[in-house]
Amino acid sequence: MNISIGIAGAGLSGAVIANELAKNGYQVHVFDPREHIGGNCFSYRDEPSGIMVHKYGPHIFHTNNKLVWDYVNNLIELKPYINRVKAHTNNEIFSLPINLHTINQFFKKQLSPSAAKKFIEQQSDSSIDIAISFEEQAMKFIGRPLYEAFFKEYTLKQWGRSPSDLPASILQRLPVRFNYDDNYFNHQYQGMPKDGYTPLIEKLLNHKNIAVHLGSNITRKDVLNYDHVFFSGKIDEYFEYQYGMLSYRTLDFIPIRDKGDYQGAAVINYCDNSERFTRISEHKHFSPWESHDDTICFKEYSREADSTDIPYYPVRLVNDSDILKNYISLAEKEDGITFVGRLGTYRYLDMDVTIEEALNTANHFISNANAKMPS
Ligand code: UDP
Repeated sequence: MNISIGIAGAGLSGAVIANELAKNGYQVHVFDPREHIGGNCFSYRDEPSGIMVHKYGPHIFHTNNKLVWDYVNNLIELKPYINRVKAHTNNEIFSLPINLHTINQFFKKQLSPSAAKKFIEQQSDSSIDIAISFEEQAMKFIGRPLYEAFFKEYTLKQWGRSPSDLPASILQRLPVRFNYDDNYFNHQYQGMPKDGYTPLIEKLLNHKNIAVHLGSNITRKDVLNYDHVFFSGKIDEYFEYQYGMLSYRTLDFIPIRDKGDYQGAAVINYCDNSERFTRISEHKHFSPWESHDDTICFKEYSREADSTDIPYYPVRLVNDSDILKNYISLAEKEDGITFVGRLGTYRYLDMDVTIEEALNTANHFISNANAKMPS
């Protein structure tokens, strides 16, 4: 079979699709404008410390999807890992997500789970029927004191917008617990790759039918060179921003090098406005099975992305939804291309959802193509 496929982006979406198609006999060309594979889950060993670093910020693999969990475990070794995050606010360190420890420490109480639930219900605003904004969601479920201490300023720093203008869905990502469970995620499966995420992408792209081209990308004029293109770059950039730019937040990481243990935890969020950065990640704590004398941390600053910055978080406010609708209708009329992944579809996607969607997209394409083949 000599069907040629172009893939824009060597991140998770592009690599999973490339691998599925290559296994089915397609000739696949994967392009990425950066000089490395892996997209924003690229990891590398820092020099001279030898510590595994997630270049574009911490990525913890977590999912409820057994198929996706098995898929990743068949490719690389995942070590058991539970994400536990601390919060710095009002000159104190607390436990996140909001749990019984956080509540008791914050309110200087020793409440039982049921007493804490009642207590928080008294703080929260029961007049809010359906929470639309981030702020309403916080008021409805945790009340003003916890909202102001842990969410209001952090969210302003992270998104550059007032929580009253942001959607409730952003906060719905986080659990609130009335027990002492401080696991940041509710998912059944959670782990960290023993040797980082880059080997996962390498394995996916290591196939005789796949050619990887770094430092270059597929643009609209290149699409005709392929039987089909999967595009995981920015959808607005593909259409040359003709309806304007979709807003993204980008991140700046400022390194701190030290000896020993800098902060005693993988992630500490700075929830009030005593600091301009949102959090500090200390990367050796993401590989607790390794031992290193040195340490490297990153202070994370969030700001609005311009067209040359690396896009991280799609903002998705009303204005963006209007712009996105225009691009989606252009995309639907465009022949020979499928837009995939976080940037191609302008959605905030966790890694497990990215993999699941990429597998579905590839398999759907393969079965459609097979159905069209003469028997
Ligand atoms: N958030 C916050 N304080 C925190 C942690 C999270 O205000 O200490 C808010 C913030 O707006 C963030 C959202 O909750 O974007 C979702 O948190 P999550 O940890 O999922 O953030 P992400 O993984 O998107 O960085």
